[in-house]
Amino acid sequence: MPQSQPQRRHFLRYMGSIAALSAPAMQAAAGEKDKVAFPPIYSKTEKPEQPEPPFDPWDKRVGMAIVGLGRIAVEEMLPAFAQSRHAKPVALVSGDRAKALKIAHQYNIPESAVLDYRDVDKLAHMPEVQGVYIALPNGMHAEYTVRAARAGKHVLCEKPMANSVAECEQMIEACRKAGRKLMIAYRSQYEPMDRALVKMVRDRKLGALKEFSSVNSQNMGDPQHWRLKRALAGGGALPDVGLYCINAARFLSGEEPTEVIGNTWSTPGDPRFREVEESCQFIMRFPSGFMASCSTSYGAHKSQFFRLNGEQAWAEMDPAYAYHGLKLKVSRVADGKEEASDIQIEEKNQFAAELDHFAQCVQQDKDVHTPGEEGLQDQRIMEAIYESARKGHPVKLAPPGRTRGPEPQQEGGS
Ligand code: NAD
Repeated sequence: MPQSQPQRRHFLRYMGSIAALSAPAMQAAAGEKDKVAFPPIYSKTEKPEQPEPPFDPWDKRVGMAIVGLGRIAVEEMLPAFAQSRHAKPVALVSGDRAKALKIAHQYNIPESAVLDYRDVDKLAHMPEVQGVYIALPNGMHAEYTVRAARAGKHVLCEKPMANSVAECEQMIEACRKAGRKLMIAYRSQYEPMDRALVKMVRDRKLGALKEFSSVNSQNMGDPQHWRLKRALAGGGALPDVGLYCINAARFLSGEEPTEVIGNTWSTPGDPRFREVEESCQFIMRFPSGFMASCSTSYGAHKSQFFRLNGEQAWAEMDPAYAYHGLKLKVSRVADGKEEASDIQIEEKNQFAAELDHFAQCVQQDKDVHTPGEEGLQDQRIMEAIYESARKGHPVKLAPPGRTRGPEPQQEGGS
């Protein structure tokens, strides 16, 4: 029987997914002895060729259950498994079985490994699942992290970690008690261009840091979306997209803010902003005198950038925080002239990079780079920003304990 267009598209997508997922597995199964080596082809003046690091054989990869099959899970994380070297999708948890079965077929996940939210505790009896990726609305992160930890699984939880400091602490405690890892999915901290900028800062290439200015805004549509409901989202633009500015100022500087000043605004009568703020403007003051001024909005046209200004040079990313097409520029005086140069760094899939870091930490029993404490600190800062906006004065922040684990391993020369 001839296939209809949608059927054919589905079939091609299905075959594509299988091919993408099985190719690395086949490559790894070939093993070191079958590796084909090529003699050098380029002159010594060219960039040296960098052979790609090996992919783990399929049976050695960390099996992941994906909880919540919305945009980030279906459009970004699941496709990223094709580029992952250390993880594989083995189970799905969703409230919509028909949708979940379609996705299970695309990724060769057995129907028996498709669970409803009610049955998430059954993960305890699925030894093929070692890690759980939580991609639910923010207000559900705490419950599902705690349930996954109780089921004996390591957790990779989307940002923002949760809706409150209390929930973050509950998640950290549940994973600690279960002896399982908890990583918050701060993909920028695993992305090669951001990593190169961190190195530039640590190597003092910009001189002492002075200012960070950043905007992360997008114009929201549907007033019924969970992102505009307080119970599910925790807040408006700040926890969803403003969070990226907070986290970048912290990981680029390596400092923690001691004081914040915040302001929020919602256009009166706009049905989208009955429960959460439309925009938030905030300043973070750091111990060295480094200052971050940031703005985030759910009502302004998409805009994602930062400029990090040191004594001797500035670095700018525009766009920053995006999934693809990041651009980094650095400007300093050379031979008496201001010289701005674009920094070329090969793009890598950020979702695969964070997933592989998580999987390697599970395989090697190492500490993750962005643990629960990193998410908790951002939540403390957001609560202080809201408090400052409510009270109309600056709010002080006590220094946190250690928030970040060791630097991620740099695979593939990034
Ligand atoms: P989404 O709305 O596309 O998906 C949410 C999923 O949760 C859907 O499958 C929905 O059916 C399910 N769900 C279960 N219970 C629900 C309920 N009561 N109300 C609404 N949906 C419910 O959202 P998304 O964009 O995939 O975001 C999911 C999480 O991922 C959020 O925490 C978000 O902040 C985070 N996220 C992270 C990034 C990133 O770059 N790291 C990007 C986007 C989203």
